[in-house]
Amino acid sequence: MKVPLLDLAGQYRSIRTEVLKEVKTVCDSQHYILGKNCAALESEIAAYSGARFAVGVASGTDALLLALMAAGVGIGDKVITTPFTFFATAGSIARLGALPVFVDIDPRTYNIDPAAVEAVLKKSAKGVKGLNPFKAILPVHLYGQCADMAAINKIARKYGLPVIEDAAQSIGAGYKGKKAGAIGDMGCFSFYPTKNLGGFGDGGMVTTNSPKLAGLVRMLRVHGSKKRYYHDLVGANSRLDELQAAVIRVKLKRLDAWTDGRIKNAARYDALFEKAGLEGKVAVPYVEGNCLSVYNQYVIRAKKRDELRAHLSAQGIGSEIYYPLSLHQQKCFKYLSYKTGSLPESEKAAKQVMALPIYPELSAAQQKYVVASIAAFYEKG
Ligand SMILES: *Cc1c(COP(=O)(O)O)cnc(C)c1O
Repeated sequence: MKVPLLDLAGQYRSIRTEVLKEVKTVCDSQHYILGKNCAALESEIAAYSGARFAVGVASGTDALLLALMAAGVGIGDKVITTPFTFFATAGSIARLGALPVFVDIDPRTYNIDPAAVEAVLKKSAKGVKGLNPFKAILPVHLYGQCADMAAINKIARKYGLPVIEDAAQSIGAGYKGKKAGAIGDMGCFSFYPTKNLGGFGDGGMVTTNSPKLAGLVRMLRVHGSKKRYYHDLVGANSRLDELQAAVIRVKLKRLDAWTDGRIKNAARYDALFEKAGLEGKVAVPYVEGNCLSVYNQYVIRAKKRDELRAHLSAQGIGSEIYYPLSLHQQKCFKYLSYKTGSLPESEKAAKQVMALPIYPELSAAQQKYVVASIAAFYEKG
């Protein structure tokens, strides 16, 4: 049996006719940039996530970049974020000449630890009053589960900082009656093909309840202009094109059904692992009581992880490590002077985690095969 980490072919088959029709309509209209589909998708994503505004941009990375710019982050400013995330989170901060300040994660959820956020702010606040070098907090909703936003928002209010959610992996994720992207000041989504709502290329979106921030992002995506050829700000060329928007709109209608499939598959894995009795060898994902995870990834912690991966690969089972090297240890961030051992939970997670196939079309038989193969690996000793 073959179990790929992700197989988008089945999903494509189910929407092919409708998608091709919409793509043809865009081509026939010859309107490719900032047209009807982008505007409609913006309203639909705003409604879906419960935010007042949504602004389509060229990628999830650009969503982060423009959100940070809208928050006024610039050269020398500090932004607190997690070291255990995809590179774009911290890369966007650094590209603006700002400094990512990494704080450790909660070992159960892998999301940023609010106590660590507060500790860093407290330390700096002892210095000169009113000269806080921090400009924003950038939590990531990793693998499909929201960070501890109540605690983070509370700290942010206390120190007067905006909160930008990196919701690239978590569209539709629930948190205390709210949804990812509408809990902080701004939310950033990605439509990269492997995300839960993926286009046929790159795309992204910024959500917010603030008309001011929405207006800024709207300007920043067209080189900082409101009136063509008159530039109030230096922005970027970062627009969500019509072909992507048309494809994503077709998929958005099915997103909740696909998410349900992921949640059901996760529950099935949980039950299979429990039955296999692998305590002490495999830890299944932990979801907080007030959270609804959309399982962009189903990530286990595993003993002898790298050997397990090789074993699974030989059995035709795909897996991946998100992420093998904590961001504070990346070569490009050497100038930030973090020492190995300084963020131990993130470093430990990088050595232990691995993602198993979780896409909605995965069959029960495939999941049984995955768990049986894992159990067989540990029985070998
Ligand atoms: C995918 C991802 C991004 C970047 O999105 P792109 O659309 O690929 O630019 C940012 N942050 C996280 C956590 C992601 O998973």
